[in-house]
Amino acid sequence: MGDKAFGALLACLLLPAAAAAQEDHAGRFYTSGPSTAPIFALTYDDGPGATTAPLLDLLSLRGAKATFFINGRPSAKRLKDLERACADGHLAANHTSSHKNYFKLAVDPDREKLLASELEPTGKAIEKACGYRPYIMRMPNGYSRDWVRKAARENGYVLVNWTYGSDWTKLSDEEMLAGYLKELRPGAILLFHDGGGKVRERTLRLTEAVLAEAEKRGLRAVTLDELLGLPAPVKAVKTGDGTSIPAE
Ligand SMILES: [Zn+2]
Repeated sequence: MGDKAFGALLACLLLPAAAAAQEDHAGRFYTSGPSTAPIFALTYDDGPGATTAPLLDLLSLRGAKATFFINGRPSAKRLKDLERACADGHLAANHTSSHKNYFKLAVDPDREKLLASELEPTGKAIEKACGYRPYIMRMPNGYSRDWVRKAARENGYVLVNWTYGSDWTKLSDEEMLAGYLKELRPGAILLFHDGGGKVRERTLRLTEAVLAEAEKRGLRAVTLDELLGLPAPVKAVKTGDGTSIPAE
């Protein structure tokens, strides 16, 4: 049996098991991880954007890993940023395609269908750039209701909000940093933004300061799957005849 055929056989045997392991977690909802290990998570919403590339430089310099909650259908240029994020070992997750305000859609009879249609295009974009279907999602504005958890479960997603975030508020830089550092502890999930059509200098400054303090406190920034003890994303594998086994 050639290497390629063996690889395809192995993929057939392993992928369904890995996908099933992910399904076990679908519908769960987290705002923090266990506090038993000296690790925490940096998460960035609404990108990829103009801040993504400089942020990746900073994370790489500091040896930190992060999770990017991707919004929209990224342009070719932004897909390159996403490709780089995944190649650098960061995790891509789904933040829906058009960031609708679900507080206003709460009574829409088609809200489940709408949410599924909002997850699909971003999921596909991530698969194109990173080689796997994401299975972690965050709702726009952190919206969370029972119907969302049910929809997440049906669409194969784990829901993750955050322990602390304030980079979009009117607080001063000092007040924001004080908030982030107060919550910087094992299991914390910190929220920042790297999208929105402009370079978010504030996100870069806050990330740098948080990582400097994390080092002093002996804390390591890891991706959400590692923090939450979830299975790593299942990569699609090219088979010998050029087709790929989807990472559902
Ligand atoms: Zn958002």
